[in-house]
Amino acid sequence: KQEHLRKPDWLKIKLNTNENYTDLKKMMRENNLNTVCEEAKCPNIHECWGTRRTATFMILGAVCTRACRFCAVKTGLPNELDLQEPERVAASVKMMNLKHAVITAVARDDLKDGGSAVFAETIRAIKRANPFTTVEVLPSDMGGVYENLERLMEAKPDILNHNIETVRRLTPRVRARAKYDRSLELLKRSKEMHPEIPTKSSLMIGLGETKEEIIEVMDDLRANDVDIMTIGQYLQPSKKHLMVQKYYSPKEFKEFWEIAMTKGFSHCQAGPLVRSSYHADEQVNAAAKE
Ligand code: SF4
Ligand code: SF4
Repeated sequence: KQEHLRKPDWLKIKLNTNENYTDLKKMMRENNLNTVCEEAKCPNIHECWGTRRTATFMILGAVCTRACRFCAVKTGLPNELDLQEPERVAASVKMMNLKHAVITAVARDDLKDGGSAVFAETIRAIKRANPFTTVEVLPSDMGGVYENLERLMEAKPDILNHNIETVRRLTPRVRARAKYDRSLELLKRSKEMHPEIPTKSSLMIGLGETKEEIIEVMDDLRANDVDIMTIGQYLQPSKKHLMVQKYYSPKEFKEFWEIAMTKGFSHCQAGPLVRSSYHADEQVNAAAKE
């Protein structure tokens, strides 16, 4: 049996709660909204909600039709579709005075449109109520049905983000219902549909990949015109999830950042605590300057 690795010091950070944060949490419950920031117990929540004014909402329910082995979201029969959700998300973005809102969703393989209509309406509702807020979307691969992607892109998000998550070899083990090439295809097609909308993808490391495989992901993303990449440390959400195979040091992350920048990404974030939506507000600006 494999031994658990000891968590290195740079990952041990203290979560302090302040009043503002408690109020926001209460507001989320009252509006029946879910955020990845809370669900994933993200260590950056104070910086994001408080200082940077960014948050990641998870729409279309809190139960996923898939069961990726790194992910803490519950699996099971999905919630009923909530058509009022877009307006509630938009009102919360306003209340939180967000500069940048990230919208993700559980994979709704049960719905013919993959949830894309509610997704698109959420983008529109946020923009109607918050004309200065940038919106980043983080959809699933929607089963490779590209009319659904088109429906989403027509609502003009400021960034289309779809995570590759892990290297090619580990994809079947880490996210069984997804496909490495289908994720690349989604990124490529969204760029073809709307070349003005920057594309982005994230990689978690620490699942047993090699350095060469990480570099291969960078090359594959660039070959499909992806503009922005983030690289973060995989952390095991519970004992039922995949074990961490390696904790990369901040120095190793810096090296990956340097390699990524030589590959031609317009922006890259790499670090132990980097999450897909971390410092996302900067990336819109970087992409806009292109
Ligand atoms: Fe939320 Fe993303 Fe910030 Fe974490 S990094 S608190 S998930 S916006
Ligand atoms: Fe988690 Fe997304 Fe996989 Fe669902 S599809 S289990 S939300 S990573």
